[in-house]
Amino acid sequence: MRLTRVISPEQGLDPFLLLDEFDSSSAGDYIAGFPSHPHRGFETVTYMLDGHMLHEDHLGNRGDLTPGAVQWMTAGRGIIHSEMPRQAAGRMRGFQLWINLAAKEKMQAARYRDLVPAEIPEVALEGSRVRVVAGGFEPLAPRAAAVKGPVGDGTTAPLYLDANLDAGATLTIATPPGHRVLAYAFEGAPTVAGRALAKGQLAILGDGSSLVLSAGATAARVLVIGGKPLGERVVHYGPFVMNSEAEIRQAISDYQSGKLTAAA
Ligand code: FE
Repeated sequence: MRLTRVISPEQGLDPFLLLDEFDSSSAGDYIAGFPSHPHRGFETVTYMLDGHMLHEDHLGNRGDLTPGAVQWMTAGRGIIHSEMPRQAAGRMRGFQLWINLAAKEKMQAARYRDLVPAEIPEVALEGSRVRVVAGGFEPLAPRAAAVKGPVGDGTTAPLYLDANLDAGATLTIATPPGHRVLAYAFEGAPTVAGRALAKGQLAILGDGSSLVLSAGATAARVLVIGGKPLGERVVHYGPFVMNSEAEIRQAISDYQSGKLTAAA
């Protein structure tokens, strides 16, 4: 699958490990999909914007990822899954985010949440529409009631918003102090916290309690992600993210002996 890596593990954007964007209308770029592979120690969040993928895992979960759907997968001690395209033509577009788990959560049982588009609240404000995947969305200007997304648990207390801004619109949102907050411009050329971004640019924000997003002369769309940094050692090896080399060796050995997904 052809991907654009927006965030890589080497950047140390604790608790975020990776953000990939995929966007292609040529089947050759996505038809191979992601055949069966393992994960341990973190969460993967897939957000589909266009296209159709089928997810299946060793727990028997099966989910259709259609436009606007989210798959929130907490690998915990181990999951083996696949994500394969269910289309042979047309546009495939979306994101995959990896969020680290705290040491005490890495060996929990795997958990899978398939969120269909209707389960994700969309808040309509003057000049903007915001889909709330995770955490609490609190609009400060225009001011409106806070809305909680369907995901909100875990040490990292993730925030995941898809903000659609009309041309000329400005939106100020509350952000949790102490969280790492990132904003990725994926349509248009928005201004984020006073800095003009081009499409495909990521803003790494300083600590604060609010964030101002503005569209320019054209409409813009911004992915806003936030999470509480864990401040723990990160050892990443392929599909495993643990706190020590010994735990990585254990993950590889568990996978090879078929114990990755065995009950604790
Ligand atoms: Fe995966």
